[in-house]
Amino acid sequence: MARPLTATVDLAAILQNYRYAKKLQPTCKAFAVVKSNAYGHGAVEVSRYLDKEVDAFAVAAIEEAMALREAGIVSPILLLEGVFEGEEWALCEKYGFWSALENAQQLDELQASGAKIEKIFLKLDSGMHRLGVDKDAAPAFVSALKDSGQVEDVILMTHFACADDLSDLTTLQQLAYFEQARQSIGDIAASVANSAAIMKWSVPEGGWIRPGIMLYGISPFAEVSGRAMGLRPAMTLSSKVISTRQLKKGDKVGYGLGYIAAEDHVLATVAVGYGDGYPRHAENGTPLQVDGKPAHLAGRVSMDMITVRMQDFAVELAMGQEVVLWGGDVPVEEVADYAGTIGYELVTRMTARPHYRYV
Ligand code: PLP
Repeated sequence: MARPLTATVDLAAILQNYRYAKKLQPTCKAFAVVKSNAYGHGAVEVSRYLDKEVDAFAVAAIEEAMALREAGIVSPILLLEGVFEGEEWALCEKYGFWSALENAQQLDELQASGAKIEKIFLKLDSGMHRLGVDKDAAPAFVSALKDSGQVEDVILMTHFACADDLSDLTTLQQLAYFEQARQSIGDIAASVANSAAIMKWSVPEGGWIRPGIMLYGISPFAEVSGRAMGLRPAMTLSSKVISTRQLKKGDKVGYGLGYIAAEDHVLATVAVGYGDGYPRHAENGTPLQVDGKPAHLAGRVSMDMITVRMQDFAVELAMGQEVVLWGGDVPVEEVADYAGTIGYELVTRMTARPHYRYV
């Protein structure tokens, strides 16, 4: 009756991962980062489930924040990228949003708007050179924000460029730079840690942590899965075998005939493709599971289908079997690796086409 592709999202897993983040940094308050549709997991559904428990949510921009308010979310919401136009400050006041602030124009527009904002997260450029003010400018920004009478609380925030690489000392340099800035300002709370930093680096006590990917049970580190790090993966992408055939050694498969059978084996066609978010660049050999047993991608990923080499499966038994593309015993991090990308991208690029099921 319906195409059998389902993204099952385990909401309790996300809550458990959020609690785990807080346990790792017990002196800090924690955002739940739900930008980009909660990394593809469904921002409204995820945020509704977490609303009573989280200290606050974080999204990239005001559209995402408004969609959550419209869905009835009451927790504070931080705009991680700040505002893009001066008129947004009035909306921030109206909806009670907190915002990052990273340049003089945003400060001028905030002052001109007269909007009252409970918390501003002043972004310090501690080395990533993407957003933020430098440490010499930071004290004047803090004074201006405090003197404006519009802001209750200013927090100093930064973001790490290399926290996912434990052998890279950039994170320590960024932390040292951040602490220098903090000392020159005086008494100010800190917000520095993404998932990698929460799990593996020593971050300032107190203040706010910003876990994103770990909430979804996915590791920020290339070499280890979320599950191996004590996280509970939240998404299982599953489908079914919709066609089968017996291949002979030398038979070729799919667009460009990019797979050649090295021996006789059963080939299954499965209803999932890049139109759903399965990565087109996944290579032959990408792992998945059919009926709980290991199997591998064989041939180029199409928009709506993939082809799979079955291991020791009789052709007449393959039809209709359940296929797990990722989740459970198929780590999304490993699938991502076969596609030359990271788990973040796979889940975030999920499209609206699969059936989403919340459990
Ligand atoms: N903080 C900021 C400013 C971010 O941009 C992000 C995500 O990119 C996060 C926190 C969450 O990072 P992660 O998903 O690695 O935990």
